[in-house]
Amino acid sequence: MSVENLVGKVLIVGGGVGGMAAAIRFREAGVNVDLVDLDPNWGVYGTGITLSILTLRALCDLGLADDVMKVGNCYDNYLICNADGSVLHESSLPRLYSEDVPAEGGILRPALHAIMKERVLKKGVHVRTGLSVATLDADDLGVTVAFTDGETGRYDLVVGADGLFSKVRGMIMPDAPKPAFTGQACWRAMFDIPEGWTSGRMFLGEKVKLGFTLCSPDKMYLYLLEHVPDNPWREKSELPGLLRGLMDGFGGEAARLKETIGDDASIIYRPLESVLIEDSWSRGRVVLLGDAVHATTPHLGSGAGAAVEDAIVLVEELASSASVDEALENYDRRRIPRASLVVKNSLKIGQMEMTSAPMKDQAALMSASMEVIAQPYR
Ligand SMILES: Cc1cc2nc3c(=O)[nH]c(=O)nc-3n(C[C@H](O)[C@H](O)[C@H](O)COP(=O)(O)OP(=O)(O)OC[C@H]3O[C@@H](n4cnc5c(N)ncnc54)[C@H](O)[C@@H]3O)c2cc1C
Repeated sequence: MSVENLVGKVLIVGGGVGGMAAAIRFREAGVNVDLVDLDPNWGVYGTGITLSILTLRALCDLGLADDVMKVGNCYDNYLICNADGSVLHESSLPRLYSEDVPAEGGILRPALHAIMKERVLKKGVHVRTGLSVATLDADDLGVTVAFTDGETGRYDLVVGADGLFSKVRGMIMPDAPKPAFTGQACWRAMFDIPEGWTSGRMFLGEKVKLGFTLCSPDKMYLYLLEHVPDNPWREKSELPGLLRGLMDGFGGEAARLKETIGDDASIIYRPLESVLIEDSWSRGRVVLLGDAVHATTPHLGSGAGAAVEDAIVLVEELASSASVDEALENYDRRRIPRASLVVKNSLKIGQMEMTSAPMKDQAALMSASMEVIAQPYR
């Protein structure tokens, strides 16, 4: 059975990484795809994104290897350093996609968005922005959708890919868990890549870990996770000073980089929230993917890749199943355990950081998680 025999017309709600991956895959399977995104500019917010071994393989499986390698920065090794900058350990990562594509890396979020957006439009997806779904009226054969701009449509399948605060999740699973604050906040800032750096680095401080991911040929971003149990509100103007304070105690290149953070530096500060749905990800002909069902923290750098894996597996199952119901059951069976592991282990690493668990225990959980996410998902 081909995908288009089961679902001739699909609506995707949300044009982030997961929604765009689904749109690309459905179009490649010959399905008519409408995509709506709430953001009138259909843009993306943020600095860079780490392409863990999982995330990079998923993007390559989607057919984006050449673009990502050209615009991003990919490498095979990762340096773990002391707070003073001396190298403690060099980890060598496996090339999961092919011998020709390095193991992991980074890319600027707007650059990844642009690559995927171009592919979506080229494949002939019908995109509308600045709107959402108002109602979903599902029956055994499909879903009648009313949009917030007054239009209506009839679809064989609706895919909710509308992120952490998913409206579609709220519509089909009103009793589902809500996003919860994890206790940490994430700091991000951009820098030029220092002379001689050819891979990501993490510096182990007494209170915080400080990391850098190379994300273009000449740029890298800083990430730092802070324990903020009271989740304080922070004014934009205080961010540069606070970040410099958190970087106190780091020596070597990290200390030099700290000095380049001016009072007008553009810094992103974001409290972390997570949600995980562990029972079925669909109700009738409406199915969810990505952060709508498994929003994780950045500890394994794998949230975006997990959303892409969802999209790939969803379309694979529709291509190989006898009915939509069977495909959605198989989708749950293949995706929920794997995505749950990414979320739960990321949260566990965060907990260990917040309770200052011994670094060797944190490293052990990190490497055990990496071994599992390196396993094939298809
Ligand atoms: C601080 C932080 C750092 C991270 N770092 C990494 C990393 O290094 N590597 C990695 O792989 N992952 C990382 N992640 C996770 C990654 O960003 C997410 O897992 C990924 O973006 C999820 O993709 P998505 O398409 O499901 O959701 P999103 O990317 O959130 O996209 C949702 C889309 O839906 C749209 N939308 C929202 N509401 C509606 C609505 N009601 N109607 C229509 N459209 C709507 C939005 O405009 C958006 O375009 C990080 C996450 C955080 C919070």
